[in-house]
Amino acid sequence: MQNNPKDTCSFYDCLGFLIDYFQKTATPETVLSGLPVVDDNITMKVFVQAAARAGIKVEIRKIPLTKLLRERLPAIVLMRDHTAVFATEYLAQQKSVRAYYGKGSEANAELSLERLAAGYLGYAMFVSPIDEISLEQQHAEIDKSRHWFRRSIFRSWRVYRDVLFSSFMINVFALASPIFIMNVYDRVVPNHAIETLWVLVSGILIIFAFDLVLRVLRGYFIDTAGRRVDIELSSMLFEHVLGIRMGDRPASVGAFANHLDEFESVRNFITSATVTAFIDLPFVVLFLLVIWFVGGNIVVVPLVAIPLILTYALVLQPFIKAAITRVSHGAAQKNATLVESLVGIETIKLLGAESRQQHKWEQAVEFISRWAIRSRLLSASVVNAAVFLQQLSTIGVVAYGVYLITSGSLSLGGLIAAVILTSRVLAPMAQVANLTTHYHQVTTALKTIDSIMRLPSERQQDKSYLTQPHIRGEIEFDKVTFSYPQQPVPALNNVTLKIAPGEHVGVIGRTGSGKSTLGKLIAGLYADNTGFVRLDGLDVRHIAPSVLRSHIGYVTQDVMLFDGSMRDNISFGGRTVPDEQLIVAAEISGVMSTVRRHPDGFDMHIGERGSGLSGGQRQEVAVARAILRDPPVIILDEPTTSMDNATEAKLKEKLKPYLQGKTLILITHKSSMLDLVDRLIVLEEGRIIANGNKADVIRTLQTLAAPG
Ligand code: ATP
Ligand code: MG
Repeated sequence: MQNNPKDTCSFYDCLGFLIDYFQKTATPETVLSGLPVVDDNITMKVFVQAAARAGIKVEIRKIPLTKLLRERLPAIVLMRDHTAVFATEYLAQQKSVRAYYGKGSEANAELSLERLAAGYLGYAMFVSPIDEISLEQQHAEIDKSRHWFRRSIFRSWRVYRDVLFSSFMINVFALASPIFIMNVYDRVVPNHAIETLWVLVSGILIIFAFDLVLRVLRGYFIDTAGRRVDIELSSMLFEHVLGIRMGDRPASVGAFANHLDEFESVRNFITSATVTAFIDLPFVVLFLLVIWFVGGNIVVVPLVAIPLILTYALVLQPFIKAAITRVSHGAAQKNATLVESLVGIETIKLLGAESRQQHKWEQAVEFISRWAIRSRLLSASVVNAAVFLQQLSTIGVVAYGVYLITSGSLSLGGLIAAVILTSRVLAPMAQVANLTTHYHQVTTALKTIDSIMRLPSERQQDKSYLTQPHIRGEIEFDKVTFSYPQQPVPALNNVTLKIAPGEHVGVIGRTGSGKSTLGKLIAGLYADNTGFVRLDGLDVRHIAPSVLRSHIGYVTQDVMLFDGSMRDNISFGGRTVPDEQLIVAAEISGVMSTVRRHPDGFDMHIGERGSGLSGGQRQEVAVARAILRDPPVIILDEPTTSMDNATEAKLKEKLKPYLQGKTLILITHKSSMLDLVDRLIVLEEGRIIANGNKADVIRTLQTLAAPG
């Protein structure tokens, strides 16, 4: 670092200083990987999350500057211009603080109090290391409460407690109106007690006003809790999806996307008013008690009706559930067809395969509608049965009530109250039918999402990775055997090889011989191999994936571009890159000639999946990406297959000086590209059949190929 550091720094730098200061084995890159970061801009929330991953607890507090400096250092002082200072010590006499700027710099530069006070935001982050033991405990706890969903809901328990309380009050208030009517009939009307009437009216008005307020509040509570859970779960889910190991990647993107989409139904469930119906259910008991109190034996009627409704609903449950599961499968199938067709529309047209896809689609739609209708019919039948029974019980209550009135054990007002209360008791029962259907949808969705959440992630929070800031670029395969998931034949079979730092090696071999697989293992995309793949002597599985990949510039065989500008596509996923670096990469890769010809330059728009570029141009972009951050290891997998000879020659010429001192692995079928390498490795059915000096290997291959 410079001798005279800028006095305040970005959150990103601060995170580095913090990790450094507490001597944690992490880098900003590893702890930030998978968190939402755009162009080095870290929000405070992300900062706290990232620090926690590194084993540092961060709390944001409002505190006066002098109090902070006297009592709470070390702390990160937040400035108004979105920068920060990591202050470690207060120097009262000098009227300054010692700020930490990382190892190796003039680490403890002093910063005047005046300067700090001028820009202070009023907030600071208190920092303290989490000791290893409590960290382990935390992991154990997370393991115990494995269920990510419950954990997240549980975090909002306070809100749900408030919801419960307001529900209780709302249900108690619901008793007011039947009791009011009962009293009007029994006391006010026979005695013409107008004064009592108005007392009762004002009483009930007050209760209804409270009821209204509580209902509004309850709705609001449920919404906020649901929103929080929704945001938290969605981001957790997406982070997990991006972290899924390649080997566990789902077979169908469309179906997978649909499964993720089912999260929607979970969200609707927890944020919707349906939750209140569930909460209201236990209060049925309260209403029954009141009916009994008011009308005595008349309570028998609802007591008979409730189990009838519930039994009918329960009996139908397995059928509803089966129908819903089928609908969900069908929807996944339908989405898979849709995504596949949209992605491959060009090929489908050229092969004339429209009718095949159309057929697949119609089959899925037909299947879904068949089962959706069945599930709707079933749940509707429960609702209808509930409504029917509700009507029957009203009649039952009235009829039975007349007998009771005749025998003098019930008043007219009591009968009316009992009728109202009975319908109130049975109303949630009708909703239960609806609810259970919903509930099955949600549990089906949760099960699917849960199976996604259980897929192993390549970023294991509890795994402490080796951090290796500088890589020389030595690559070693030690008896590596690897098969793709569910493939009987290994793609690589007992491969042992060593590539020295700075060496340029070509990998050749027939189609399907395992060349691309070799590259993917170096980048740690697949990790279920036996034997060891090492980078600078370290097993690549022990290096954090994000760090490992930052050391490797990789041009994949199938180039994937994304919707956005040329600049975005080259620096894709990377943090802000200085323009000079971008231009250098563009010059070497040949992207510059495309950029020059376009009026928007680097801002030129590239369509989805690179549809705005030719095959060769896409490969140039891929090369630019790979060399952009000047990594010590470069892996080029068929980088020039779509280029004409002249373009390829130009690229070779420019790459040659650039590759000096870097380790190069060049996978190719083109003999012209072999000019870039000194050594050749030949693969055949996953085994190395030749490995050595380029000229020697070519000579051997020629004699092998020669007849006789
Ligand atoms: P090419 O010259 O055509 O690029 P390659 O030498 O790069 O071929 P690889 O892509 O390494 O070959 O594939 C080696 C073997 O692994 C092949 O037999 C292939 O069928 C299998 N394979 C490759 N990718 C996958 C995958 N994602 N899932 C399952 N099997 C795979
Ligand atoms: Mg390949």
